[in-house]
Parts: sequence; C-alpha cells; structure tokens
Amino acid sequence: MGWEPIRKRRTGPVEPNLVDYERVYAGFSWDEARSQLTGLPGGGLNIAYEAVDRHAAGASRDRGALRCRGRGGHTTELTYDELRRATNRFANVLRELGAGKGDRVATLLGRVPELYVTAIGALKNTSVYAPLFSAFGPEPVRERLRLGDVRVLVTTPQLYRKRVAQLRDSLPALEHVLVIGDDPPAGTRSFAEAMARAGDEFTIPPTSPDDMALLHFTSGTTGKPKGAVHVHGAVLAHHVTAAYALDLHAGDVYWCTADPGWVTGTSYGIIAPLTHGVTVIVDASDFDSHGWYEVLQDERVTVWYTAPTALRMLMRSGAELAKRYDLSALRFVASVGEPLNPEVVVWGQEALGLPVHDNWWQTETGAIMISNYAAEDVRPGSMGRPIPGVEAGIVTGDGDGVTEVGDPEAVGELALRPGWPSMFRGYLHDDKRYAESFVDGWYLTGDLARRDPDGYYWFVGRADDVIKSAGHLVGPFEVESALMEHPAVAEAGVIGKPDPVVGEVVKAFVTLREGHDPTEELRAELVAFGRRRLGAVAPKEIAFDQHLPHTRSGKVMRRLLKSRELGLPEGDTSTLEVGR
Ligand code: ATP
Ligand code: MG
Repeated sequence: MGWEPIRKRRTGPVEPNLVDYERVYAGFSWDEARSQLTGLPGGGLNIAYEAVDRHAAGASRDRGALRCRGRGGHTTELTYDELRRATNRFANVLRELGAGKGDRVATLLGRVPELYVTAIGALKNTSVYAPLFSAFGPEPVRERLRLGDVRVLVTTPQLYRKRVAQLRDSLPALEHVLVIGDDPPAGTRSFAEAMARAGDEFTIPPTSPDDMALLHFTSGTTGKPKGAVHVHGAVLAHHVTAAYALDLHAGDVYWCTADPGWVTGTSYGIIAPLTHGVTVIVDASDFDSHGWYEVLQDERVTVWYTAPTALRMLMRSGAELAKRYDLSALRFVASVGEPLNPEVVVWGQEALGLPVHDNWWQTETGAIMISNYAAEDVRPGSMGRPIPGVEAGIVTGDGDGVTEVGDPEAVGELALRPGWPSMFRGYLHDDKRYAESFVDGWYLTGDLARRDPDGYYWFVGRADDVIKSAGHLVGPFEVESALMEHPAVAEAGVIGKPDPVVGEVVKAFVTLREGHDPTEELRAELVAFGRRRLGAVAPKEIAFDQHLPHTRSGKVMRRLLKSRELGLPEGDTSTLEVGR
C-alpha cells in the first residue's frame, strides 16, 4: 500500500546476531545449533537447566535474572544463583508432595516472583508447567484445570476463594493448592512455609528432549481454547529465535509485556531470555502509557517485546508523550500476537526512534517462526521472513490434500514443514484434531498469507475471518490498516456481514483517537477515505465502537463482532477481556 521500507543504519551500539540472512538461512541446522545449549551434566536436556542453572554455575551467577516491579512500587530482584536455589526449593516441594514426572503444575497468578519460581521449579522436577491467566473467572479456570488434569495449583488466597474454592469438589485430580501470602484458606497450604521447609539443592532427574514440559491453552480467538503440548527440546527453538528475532545479547535488559498466562509470557517472558543470561524485567501493573514509558526509561530497557494493541494504545496517546522520556537505552522493539499495521511500524520510528519489528507465531509453534530482523530493512506491514531452520510455504487445498501455490503473491494458507524443535506434540485429549493439522507433509496454521517475490510474508487474515465480497477475497487486516491511516482512527475491527447480493459486505467497527467525535460527517468521511484507499474492497458500513472486544491476550475478537452483529450466540467468551 505504498509504505516505503525502513532502511537500517548499520551503526547500532551492538552488532546484530543475524547479519546476513540468506547465508545463515542456507547454512542453518538445528543439530549444529544444539551446541549453543549445555545439556544436563549426565546427558539429556531440561529447559530449567538451560535457563537458570548453567548461568548460576558460571560468570553470570550474581547477575540479575529477574527484576519484579510490584504494584506498590516494591521491586524484588533475584540473581541467577538466587533463582537457581529458589527453583530447587520448589522442585523439592513438589517432590515432597508426591508430584513427579509428567504431573501438571498450574499457576493462577499475576506477575509475581513466585510464578517464575513455580514454572522453573516444576520443569526441574520434570513436571509439566501450565500457566492460567489470573483474570479468568471460575468456569474457564475449571475447564482448564480439568482438561489439563492439573494436580498442583499455585495461586493467591483471594483468587482461590473467588475462583477455585467452589469448584474444588468437581476437580478430583487437583490434590494440592499452594497459596502465596498469609492465611491459607481451608484446603490449601502456604507456599512460603513449604518453601522454607524445603532444601535448596536439587538434582534434575534424567530428562529427554521429548519429555512433556509445558501445557499452553490457545487464546480462544476463534473458539474454545485448545491445550497445546510442548516438550523440553523446545528450548533450542526458544534460544535460537531469541537470538535471531529479538537480537538478545548477554548484558541486555529485556522486557516482555505479554501476560505470563499465555504462551508468549512463558516462551519469551521466562525461558528464552533466561537461556541468554539477560536481566528480565517483570512489571506487575496494568497498561498505562506513562507507566510503560517509565519502565522503559527507569529500567534502561534495551530490548522490548510487546503487542500491537499496546502499541496502538501508546500511539493513541501521541508521539509527544514518548519524547518526554529518556528511551536512549532502547535498541530493539518487537511485536507479536496480531497483525501489526504499517502505521504502527512507522510510528515507532517517529516516537521511539526505532521501527517495530513484527514477528509471527502461535501457541502451536511454541516459538517465533517468521520475523523481521535487526540487521534487515523493515517492510512495514510484513511479518518478515522465516527463522533459519524453519521452512514456510503458502498452500491451497483442504484436509484431503494441499499443494504450494505457484504464483508469487497468491493468497493461501500459511503452512510450516514439521521438524522445528518447539513444534507442539499434541492437543491434549484431542488426537483427531492434532492429526488433522498435518496434511501432505505440512502443518497447517489456519492463517492466510501471501509471500512476495523476495520471500517476505504478508498476513491476510485468519482463515475463519476472511471475507468473500462480490467475488473478491478480502483480508480484514488490509482494511483495518487502511482505516488506521486516517488520523481519527485508533483501531478497527473488520468483518463480513452476509448479504444476499454480494455474499458478504465489508463492515468496519472503528475506535476513535482522543479528540475525535463519532459524528455522521466523520462516518461519511471514513467511508470515502476507505473507498479511495481500497476501491472495491472498502467497507460499505462503518460503526463507531470505543470498546472493541479483545481477548485477554490483546487480540481483536472479530468472531464476536460478527456474532453480535448477526444476533447469534457469542460462543466461548472465557478469554474475552472485560472493561476496556
Ligand atoms: P485460538 O487458536 O484459540 O483461536 P489464537 O489463535 O488467537 O486462539 P494464539 O496461539 O495465542 O491463539 O495466537 C496465534 C495467532 O495469532 C496466529 O495464528 C495469528 O492468527 C495471530 N498472530 C500472531 N502473530 C501475528 C502477527 N505477527 N501478525 C498477524 N497475526 C498474528
Ligand atoms: Mg490459533
């Protein structure tokens, strides 16, 4: 749509990890990359050892591993060695409780140090870590605890009373609940007491790269969340992708804003950065423009991994606000989770002095698969190119057979060749669905995209969201991005509304920026603006909506816009964010 590439100056403060994409891609092998990991002393591979223990044994022993900024302004810092000992204690707690290999250990917690200790301690014990989003209501919590066969839950007394206590009888597998803070409710015990009684030495039992390590529920954007199973071997992909796509270097101060209840919060909020020995900033407070700039400034964050919705909200509050803060330490900004509108990429350059690097992946892939890179020019609106070691393609067909599209630029389903280390190994209790995700040697992602002649991938939409209007295939992302180029528009969600004549008409729901009123004139102006930009695929209808429905992980829920528009049942809304 006429966005100029953002050219990189090659004089940054550090040399990027990936300098010559074509050469590295051509020569890459996962087997060789394995030498970047240490491996358990007795052989085998365990995520926790790669993330923590190997640094605690070396020069990074006293380096900050986690800096947790609490809501009350209190900061807790754990060095790599302190994190090693705390996670050893928790592994001993689990052993003491009789929880072992493969047993599920869940957290229902906000961003507190104990969440990190639980996650890594559970991995050390070869148990399986399953994060649950702390704002889930009782039903979503029950469903996930049950689907996941969770045996041990770590939460707070308040969350336990509000979300779990009344369900406990219906969860026979849930044997132990540990709570953080004083005054454990009946049926729970104190996390702190259990930790105090446990020893701080622990030998990680033999772990194979194929042992189950993580259970992640998908965001539920398109329907009921699925439980994706991941293994210890995934850590290789976490490590390599953080080097290439996030350009992490030892010595970085890294902030990932994803909630730890989702896959990004684990893969890139815990595991990947720790495997690089960097300092991870954890901030417990909710989104607030001033507060976020303050974190970037005060912690001297060098690498920042965030999401399009958050960036769009920062954009809504203006580039001037960003300029009031000292963001000089910031070297690299990346985004994931939703399409990143070119407008936002360019805004980054203007407000932060850095373009935003979009990358693409999903719960099932476990790690970043397609990315823009530090040393490469950024094409605003593109997700970038596949990570070395990842083979991507655009295919057409269906469950009976698919083929790669021959035509460059043709739209098809984004597909990946199985074999990358963090590929999910199952949907829990749904083998059929898992098997159906693989056709003719491809894993089908459910997303539509196109690839330009230079190999850059462009997101078109989720297969379910694509609109068929008067013979055109319309990707909602393209329409949303075009609308966002209008100065009054902060965010947009676009759906197809059934129409007897053209199949579907394109309808847009638009959130306005501060200082703009939802008038009839503005509506007409936006319709005309859309027509000029998009021609035949422009939205015919525009509605103003200051509260577009988002998932808790920050994605616009187009299926909900559509069912509301059509007066249909809303389906699973357990991951709907309320009140924004
Ligand atoms: P569910 O599978 O339950 O419907 P979900 O797909 O939203 O939920 P996630 O695995 O958290 O759950 O999200 C992955 C999806 O998010 C991708 O398949 C894609 O649709 C979208 N996505 C992630 N990153 C990007 C990106 N950079 N550009 C466009 N879309 C993205
Ligand atoms: Mg999905």
